[in-house]
Amino acid sequence: MHPFSYVAPRTLDEAVEILDRRGERARPFAGATDILVQLRAGRFELDALVDLKAVPETTALSLDGGGLRIGAAVPCCEIYEDAAVRAAFPGLIDAASLIGGIQIQSRASLGGNLCNASPSADGVCPLIVHSAVAKLRGPEGERDASVESFCTGPGANVLRRGELLVEIELPPPPERFGAAYQRFIPRNEMDIAVAGVASAVALDEDGAAIVSARLALAAVGPTPILAERASAFLMGKPPTTETFAEAGKIAASEASPIADMRGTKEHRLQLIETLTRRTLAVALARARTSR
Ligand SMILES: Cc1cc2nc3c(=O)[nH]c(=O)nc-3n(C[C@H](O)[C@H](O)[C@H](O)COP(=O)(O)OP(=O)(O)OC[C@H]3O[C@@H](n4cnc5c(N)ncnc54)[C@H](O)[C@@H]3O)c2cc1C
Repeated sequence: MHPFSYVAPRTLDEAVEILDRRGERARPFAGATDILVQLRAGRFELDALVDLKAVPETTALSLDGGGLRIGAAVPCCEIYEDAAVRAAFPGLIDAASLIGGIQIQSRASLGGNLCNASPSADGVCPLIVHSAVAKLRGPEGERDASVESFCTGPGANVLRRGELLVEIELPPPPERFGAAYQRFIPRNEMDIAVAGVASAVALDEDGAAIVSARLALAAVGPTPILAERASAFLMGKPPTTETFAEAGKIAASEASPIADMRGTKEHRLQLIETLTRRTLAVALARARTSR
């Protein structure tokens, strides 16, 4: 493996300056559970790895007025071990607690999961259904990107030279809101999703109709997909098994899976239908019991 130096800046300005100066020869990292594997496999060569964990903004986790801010380097275990976050964002906890095993969850961040831009990433779809926003900082200053627009292809994202993800912001969920994430893997754990679905719904006061919904699909396209037609279909509908089955069909029509060693196209499309129905049912149950 090509030798590289370890750099640990203490401020965002310092991190941006290093990344901008070194360009493609340096990359930031949080848990390094993706990037070290990729370096060892010789996927690319670097002169420096820039550890973000000494930069305070990237390790902060806070629930503010009902909204959640997750520093880009906060490990998954810190997210699911926080009782208040667990109660308010169970759909996110579904994902944070199934990424790898305990050792991986102690290092891996949702920020790294997002920046790695794998179509099968488990953390991205739950962020999308929560309408999360990526807060970026680069040589030109700060900017925002919606999480659904962040990944632009397998392993590619909107970040520019010298730019990094500082934190992910989730707005306060509306009243009577529930979300859920499920994936299908051939084993019980520690595998890459063949397909995954995140669902979120908010109900009207009587619980008789859906007033807002978002569905997102993993591992069935070059990027995680916000299923816009299926989400729009759910608006105003009664939250019934029939409605959810129809939403599943529409969601499958928004997927464009490939066939590979983990599954055929047909299998993946069927999984999207099934997982859409199942995650909507869990999101509905959570919406009915949310405060
Ligand atoms: C055994 C094992 C099991 C796994 N299981 C799963 C699984 O079940 N589900 C799943 O989705 N993934 C899984 N993964 C992949 C990986 O653990 C996750 O994608 C994890 O969330 C990555 O987070 P990280 O902090 O380790 O990222 P890192 O490896 O630190 O970074 C990943 C990428 O993002 C970039 N990056 C990181 N932080 C920033 C930032 N703030 N700004 C800009 N760019 C940044 C890095 O340069 C790198 O390209 C597994 C990995 C292993 C080794």
